[in-house]
Amino acid sequence: MSRVSLQTLIDRSVRNMGAVDSRIRDMAVEIIKRAYKEGINVQISSGLRTHAEQNALYAKGRTAPGNIVTNARAGQSVHNYGLAVDYFLTNHTGTTATWTVNAQWRRVAAIAKSMGFTWGGDWTSFPDAPHLEYTKGLTWRDLQAGKRPSFRNVPAVEKTWLELGDEGAGVKAMQELLNKHGYAVTADGIFGRMTESALRSFQYQNDLTVDGVYGTNTKAVLEEKSTSKPATKPQPKEEEDEMLKQAIVINTFNDYPAAEVLAVRLKAPIYPRAAVKGEVAKELLVVGGNKDGLKADKIIVLAGKGRFDTAEKVQEYVNKL
Ligand SMILES: [Zn+2]
Repeated sequence: MSRVSLQTLIDRSVRNMGAVDSRIRDMAVEIIKRAYKEGINVQISSGLRTHAEQNALYAKGRTAPGNIVTNARAGQSVHNYGLAVDYFLTNHTGTTATWTVNAQWRRVAAIAKSMGFTWGGDWTSFPDAPHLEYTKGLTWRDLQAGKRPSFRNVPAVEKTWLELGDEGAGVKAMQELLNKHGYAVTADGIFGRMTESALRSFQYQNDLTVDGVYGTNTKAVLEEKSTSKPATKPQPKEEEDEMLKQAIVINTFNDYPAAEVLAVRLKAPIYPRAAVKGEVAKELLVVGGNKDGLKADKIIVLAGKGRFDTAEKVQEYVNKL
């Protein structure tokens, strides 16, 4: 029998991972490739876990049948933030899963650790051999508060994505495509805060992972949209259905950090003011500046004298939610 193909292992894994952070997806694929070269067949069994899924898992062995499998409730697992994956090995043909923590299993952990992952098999209190997470020392409490690990200097992984701080022709091409779709950004080849927020808006409106990272999925959708024929004019009814419940508007990127706190909490996109044409959401939360010229059923202005006052206003608002 011939060996399972690398592509099969990758395809199954990408499907199982779900909407994890696109950099985690790329790194997991890299792990699979490297292990495959060494004759190890590894597959990812899960990645992103919703809060409901996490609570169902927590109930196992407690209020539901089965053995206890986790100590983490919703929000307390790195899986809930799309920064963890679980793996297992398969047999030669890829038809059977093996869960024995042998030398091959530990080799996969070592490859992942060389990229910056933490391996659950190293934990003493609750060893979790299938588990890999990328947190760079952040705890779930940090993640819950909106902090995210740095992906700078991931060793020896071909960087297949573009993100905040990147510069060059690839960034410029992305900005030009975003512009074409009505997301007003300066096509200067510099991936700054405004570009990131425009990209997040695009991701949000196209059911992509809203991570502000230009990875393989987002790139494919943006490029596909740009080559396909313009859609026929939508009916008014559809337009109404497509309108967002909430969106956040910023005037300057100085208010971006404050707006991001709100965006994470409300799961709403951030628009640079210049990108807001007509009515984009039923409710607008304006972070910094005023509501002049904006249209929505409800407009909430969260603004102070400077960006620190504004951030304070946002924090007060979030605390009351
Ligand atoms: Zn796990």
